[in-house]
Amino acid sequence: MSELNSSQNIINRIAEICQLIHHYNHQYYVLDEPSVPDVEYDRLMRELITLETDNPHLKTLDSPSQKVGGVALKSFSQVTHQLPMLSLDNVFSAQEWQAFVKRLKDRLKSTLDFAICAEPKLDGLAVSLRYENGVFVQAATRGDGTVGENITENIRTIKSIPLRLYGTNFPDILEVRGEVFMPKASFDALNKQAIKKGEKGFANPRNAAAGSLRQLDSKITAKRNLSFYAYGIGFVGALDDGNGIDESWLANSHYQRLCQIKTLGLPMCPEVKLLENATHVEDFYQDILQQREALSYEIDGTVFKVDDIDLQQKLGFVARAPRWATAYKFPAQEELTVLEAVDFQVGRTGAITPVARLKPIFVGGVTVSNATLHNQDEIDRLGIQINDTVIIRRAGDVIPQIVSVVLERRPDNAQVISFPSECPVCQSDVLKAEGEAVLRCTGGLYCQAQRKEAIKHFASRKALDVDGLGDKLVEQLVDEGLIKTPADLFKLNVLDVSTMERMGQKSADNLIKGLEAARNTTLAKFIYALGIREVGETTASNLAQYFLNFSAIKTANEEQLQQVPDVGVIVAKNIVNFFAQEHNIEVVEELESIMSWPDIERKSDDELPLKDQTFVLTGTLSKMARNEAKAALQALGAKVSGSVSAKTNYLVAGEKVGSKLVKAQELGVKVLTEDEMIELLG
Ligand code: NAD
Repeated sequence: MSELNSSQNIINRIAEICQLIHHYNHQYYVLDEPSVPDVEYDRLMRELITLETDNPHLKTLDSPSQKVGGVALKSFSQVTHQLPMLSLDNVFSAQEWQAFVKRLKDRLKSTLDFAICAEPKLDGLAVSLRYENGVFVQAATRGDGTVGENITENIRTIKSIPLRLYGTNFPDILEVRGEVFMPKASFDALNKQAIKKGEKGFANPRNAAAGSLRQLDSKITAKRNLSFYAYGIGFVGALDDGNGIDESWLANSHYQRLCQIKTLGLPMCPEVKLLENATHVEDFYQDILQQREALSYEIDGTVFKVDDIDLQQKLGFVARAPRWATAYKFPAQEELTVLEAVDFQVGRTGAITPVARLKPIFVGGVTVSNATLHNQDEIDRLGIQINDTVIIRRAGDVIPQIVSVVLERRPDNAQVISFPSECPVCQSDVLKAEGEAVLRCTGGLYCQAQRKEAIKHFASRKALDVDGLGDKLVEQLVDEGLIKTPADLFKLNVLDVSTMERMGQKSADNLIKGLEAARNTTLAKFIYALGIREVGETTASNLAQYFLNFSAIKTANEEQLQQVPDVGVIVAKNIVNFFAQEHNIEVVEELESIMSWPDIERKSDDELPLKDQTFVLTGTLSKMARNEAKAALQALGAKVSGSVSAKTNYLVAGEKVGSKLVKAQELGVKVLTEDEMIELLG
């Protein structure tokens, strides 16, 4: 009974795997949009092969293990291959490679070594190119190995494929087989463009190449920058015009054949090598693995082929692959895992970054348990939820990244990721600036996560320029709990400082002296030193000039702030937000009681020739940025408004102006060109 159960279990499992592989094949070969990484597919295929090997009576002719995976789309006309286009078997380790060699020798009943043609395994799609009398006449995809798609017109758009062979020494009919692929740089550019347009992009260069080549409109293929490397010869024969075929043309070595087709003008992968025997395979594999990241094209392993054509013929084929070749695949760079939680980290500039906590997974040579999710836009783009199964990628030394979500595996307990409404470190408000994807903590001086950076900025050369206080010392002071805010700096005494590690009496004296000196500053430097986002030196100085005293700046609203040269909507918001935080106010008030700066005198009317004049800027300015023009006008006392009204004195019109010009003309407002405005600014 239990035996029956277990054999029933095996039957069920085989059926389940076949169904899954069938489904994944459709997504990969037909839609060019795989939903699981190759490693998952390969695991299933291996499990199926093991089950079938252990239970040969359960192996069927239409099992996926017996077929070349793929179908020719009906939307293309079909091409029946004169010689089938097969797939490759694969090995994943040195032991499996040695077992492969042993099988070859057993089958050949020989212990002799044989030469091996070693090639990178290009990650694109296989095509067969047919030349008749040296002229390119037809191209087909592999399809199911017997029937492929006619993609002749699309292949014509690939610049590296010659439409006529070089020279005259070639057979009447020559089929060249090779891989069409998309170079990494083109893939990156294509995906960037797609994401910009709000489209999904391709999962990898292989799918991008396949999707680009299997286009009904060859104009689209032409735009995709595809490349080609030849790796074999298919059918070779004579045309019926009586010229026959010169058999001697074909070399008896696979490597030599590749060199032959190279002389006819077909590109051959420069990394291909002829190895004396199978013992050199491991070195070649390691060498190509080392080069992988630096290569301009994507590969997922190496391919080793018995070089001698007579031996190849003796070894022959199995259902879906030749016996004389195998792929030796690289460890997976993509794996499946589960997003268990999302934490929010506050960075040095207050940026709040969602960090994915993953079920630990070994991928790309390391165990990965975290990955950044960047920001809300990225979460939306991925459509990711907690408890989702995700594809994680770690290639080379690049930090791991979540590539996509396997939606088919979304569980019932999936949860939407929600961003915190306050800073997880200091509980200050969080803010997303217009046009920015990043959410930021407004805690600034107060937030523990930003503290060190805030104090470093406060003491920096362009701010208070505190002598004797470098970045390292700030870190040490914060780490030892001697300071928390910039105001605490002024509470330090020589004794505290001199007892710190690596600090002597002299450096402690210097620091305290430096701090004493820094108490006297200017209003502009003080504002700059506070480190309000996007308030640089110029803005700080403009704020000081405009408001003349600090209290006015602290209490100004956004509208008032926008009257200051150089201050736009975003900066005004940042300033208001900074002073709306109670923690900041506490520190700022403490600093005000410690520090001093001289009063500022308002500029005289002579220095403000545009006082009481209202300007509106419209259209594109070509000589200065809109902000620059606004700041320059305001520096001379002008008001700059966003809309034309009866109160407007001048409309400055750049290129491509619209309704504002019409309105100004209706109201009789004086219109200035950009050059006239520049003249006015002197
Ligand atoms: P394959 O890609 O493992 O190997 C055969 C192919 O390798 C050839 O057809 C050819 O296109 C290519 N190739 C590259 N360099 C070559 C070289 N130097 N010489 C000869 N051939 C070279 O096999 P396949 O049948 O095309 O595809 C099966 C593989 O595709 C699976 O192992 C899996 O990794 C992937 N796949 C993934 C999914 C998925 O859902 N993720 C689905 C189906 C297939």
